Amino acid sequence: MKKSNIKESVTLKINEKINTLRESGKKVYNLTSGQLNFRPPVDLIRCIEKELNFLKSFQYSPNKGFKELRRKFSNDFKSKRNITLSQATHSCIISSGSKFSLNLAIGALVQKASDEVVLVAPYWGSYPEIVKIWGGKVKCVNSFAFNSYIPKIEDIRNVVGPNTRAIIINSPNNPVGIHYDQSWMKEFALFLKEHPNLYVISDEIYSDLCYYDPKPSYFYEFDNELLERTIVINGISKSLASTGLRIGYAIANKDIVQDMVSLQSQLASGPNSLIQNALINFDLTSTTDFLDTIKKSIRNCSSILRDAIVNNNMSHTWYQTGSGFYYFMDFTKFRFFSKYESSKKDYSEEICEEILEQTGVALVPGSYFGMANSARLSMTLEEASFKEAVDLLMVYLMDK
Ligand code: PLP
Repeated sequence: MKKSNIKESVTLKINEKINTLRESGKKVYNLTSGQLNFRPPVDLIRCIEKELNFLKSFQYSPNKGFKELRRKFSNDFKSKRNITLSQATHSCIISSGSKFSLNLAIGALVQKASDEVVLVAPYWGSYPEIVKIWGGKVKCVNSFAFNSYIPKIEDIRNVVGPNTRAIIINSPNNPVGIHYDQSWMKEFALFLKEHPNLYVISDEIYSDLCYYDPKPSYFYEFDNELLERTIVINGISKSLASTGLRIGYAIANKDIVQDMVSLQSQLASGPNSLIQNALINFDLTSTTDFLDTIKKSIRNCSSILRDAIVNNNMSHTWYQTGSGFYYFMDFTKFRFFSKYESSKKDYSEEICEEILEQTGVALVPGSYFGMANSARLSMTLEEASFKEAVDLLMVYLMDK
């Protein structure tokens, strides 16, 4: 694998451009953010402060992460999903962020250059790069706005072949801000029974951020046996507004976790001791109350965006978001797009650059998510600023 084939995370590049514009005095509305615009829970901050007094917080943690915290994350997972998991068969590994957990999961699963990992597009841009890093092949299934970006099981069935090692399911989803409903999860569980060797990486990092019922459900809730070949990924970045603390985890069968521990021990060692110890003393059940105000704010931003789209007679382009904090915009449906001669080519980077220069609104081009002529916007700005940004964006989108 040539290192030059791996793309840098695009949001970092856009942020450089935003900084340059801001330095030149331009007002910029940054709708590219992959994090909440809130401080973490006060209790978590107190727990961190307390840990500063102890020597063990400054020393190596076990390669798998601290046992008390692994147990705490496992119990949280079991009680939220209402399932039983035996310590004899399953285990948990804590890592420096769930991106690292994903790396370990794919590293443990991909063994040969012919091994394929299936992604649903639009997908989080790190997935294909991580698969490439570990020498695997990416296969894609598309999903579409008219269907709220829910992939058809039939389309998944059509890409899964003898070399398919795993599929990544990200519900609630980045970049589209929806989660797959119960009937989809039931059908997916039945589909998995047809493919007994297929692993599922269930990236559940946004699972606590659901702002419209019904709440997310998962395929293994309908058939617990599927947990034997599921790697559940989660972490504190989104649910505790703590992207910078870098704590993620994976729950999977013991053999897979052991392979992940071996990789982690050589690539990074165990994650941050201080933050792990703070989390051991933090009440994870307080997350629900902590997220109340945050979810209200995301819900209000989603309504602001929907109203703007509907008031501009573009309601056919709207799908109802309900979880996470993103909306995925299909540019091809808007008036301005007529000046681009062919929708077959991808203009998303040029368009996002022009939008940023003309309106000061920063979006992430759809190309990063494997989707042409589109963009992701984050609903994490404070509501008044978000409305200003949406109004400016609409003027651009509705231009002939
Ligand atoms: N998975 C998805 C779908 C994400 O959007 C992100 C971050 O944006 C991550 C995983 C990684 O989160 P972290 O490494 O901060 O835990």
